[in-house]
Amino acid sequence: MSLLASVPDFPEPGVLFRDLTPVLADAHGFRAVIDELGDAFAGRFDAVAGVEARGFMLASAVAYRAGVGVIAVRKAGKLPGRVITEHYSLEYGEAALEVEPDHIAGGQRVLILDDVLATGGSVAATTTLLQRAGCTVTGAGVVLELNGFGGRTRLAELDLHAIVTL
Ligand code: AMP
Repeated sequence: MSLLASVPDFPEPGVLFRDLTPVLADAHGFRAVIDELGDAFAGRFDAVAGVEARGFMLASAVAYRAGVGVIAVRKAGKLPGRVITEHYSLEYGEAALEVEPDHIAGGQRVLILDDVLATGGSVAATTTLLQRAGCTVTGAGVVLELNGFGGRTRLAELDLHAIVTL
């Protein structure tokens, strides 16, 4: 994938950061990504959840295309209202994700989108948050799945669609 930028030692030594922003900045690349992620789960979701921050761009476009709403799954400390929180481990460090359950309609079938899948911690935490908010998780879509971090194994119970696997 020529639009994939790989940045060594970011955000810390030893991590090869896969930067998909050039794909999103390319009109044809962006459309292809959005179409594939939307088509992979067509008719099976009532809302799309995006994981901060690049997941927001994917989720917004897929949701708009499908005519459904979008849910922002945010890093800790960004949301003003009553939140529920899930802590998890990243390829590099610790993190926490939050949603405001009072602003999420229970009973929805929700599709989770993010740019990169590594350990699967972000998608697993998002799945738990959405289930705690009363939703059913349809599956998860990512642009790039990184082999070797165990993400697919960790998410074995989830319908997982990756456009590219490295
Ligand atoms: P994980 O929770 O381990 O599956 O990591 C996925 C999340 O962390 C996504 O939101 C990615 O944006 C980010 N991420 C983890 N590893 C990388 C990497 N090597 N390159 C780019 N993003 C990454």
